[in-house]
Amino acid sequence: MRRIGAHVSASGGVENAPLNAGKIGAKAFALFTKNQRRWQAKPLTDKSISAFKENCALVGISPEHVLPHDSYLINLGHPDPDALVRSREAFIDEMQRCQQLGLGLLNFHPGSHLKQIDEDHCLRLIADSINLALEQTRGVTAVIENTAGQGSNMGHRFEHLARIIELVEDKSRVGVCLDTCHTFAAGYDLSSFHAAEATFAEFDKIVGLNYLKAMHLNGSKSALGSRVDRHHSLQQGEMGTEVFRFLMNNPATDEIPMVLETIDEALWAEEIRWLYSLEGRQEIT
Ligand SMILES: [Zn+2]
Ligand SMILES: [Zn+2]
Repeated sequence: MRRIGAHVSASGGVENAPLNAGKIGAKAFALFTKNQRRWQAKPLTDKSISAFKENCALVGISPEHVLPHDSYLINLGHPDPDALVRSREAFIDEMQRCQQLGLGLLNFHPGSHLKQIDEDHCLRLIADSINLALEQTRGVTAVIENTAGQGSNMGHRFEHLARIIELVEDKSRVGVCLDTCHTFAAGYDLSSFHAAEATFAEFDKIVGLNYLKAMHLNGSKSALGSRVDRHHSLQQGEMGTEVFRFLMNNPATDEIPMVLETIDEALWAEEIRWLYSLEGRQEIT
C-alpha cells in the first residue's frame, strides 16, 4: 500500500513525532531527530528511544516508513576543508541517531559549491562524505533529496544524483527522495499526468527507479524551472494536481514513505485523505 504522511513536529522529544503522525491519519512520517538549526544536540536518551519505538508501534507505523531529515546546516560538499569536516561529523551523528532509533533512512540535501569549486568537485566531496558516513554506521541508507537548484545547491539535475550514486561504494545503502516542488522548480514538468510520466521516465533512465526510496509531496508556489524553492499546499500553486494522481497509481511509490511538507499543517489530515482518494483513478484516455 501507499504510505502517506507528513513532516511532523518532534517538539518535546522524538517520541512525540509518531503520536503527531497518528493524529492526522498518517501511515508514514518525517521528523528532525535534533534541532535542525543547531550544530549541537544532546544524545538521545534510552528512555526517549524506547518511547519512540513504542509510539510507532502504537500508531501502527513501521520503521521503514519513517524518513528523518537532517539539519539544514550540513553541507556535505563544502569547499572549505574545516567546514566540510564539521558537516561530516554532524552528518555521522545524524546517521547514528537514526540507527539508535531503529530507522533505516536519512534524508538530506546533497550540498552546495558556494561558487568556490566546480560542480563535479562538489559532487565528489558529497559522495566521499556519504562513503565516510556509511563506513561508520550500520543499516541506515543515505537518501539524497533532489533540490530546486536555488543558489549554488547541487542536486537539481538528475545527472547530479546519478553522479553521486556512481561514486558511492555501497550502492545498497544509497537512494533518492524526490520532492515534487523541487523537481518542478528545477525544470522537470509535472503539470499534467503525461508530463509526470515523462519526468519519471527520465529519472528512471538517468538514475533508476530502483533508487527511489522516498517522496516529498508538495505544491509549488514557484514556476516551472524557476529554481526557487517555495512549497505550497497540495491543491494550490503552479504545478496542478495531476502529478499526485500519477504518484498515487504508480507501482514505484508503493511502500515508500511519501511525506507532505506543505505549508498549512491544518490541512495535512485532509490532504492525506484526498491523496488516498486518488488511488485507483487511472488516467482516462
Ligand atoms: Zn529537504
Ligand atoms: Zn523536501
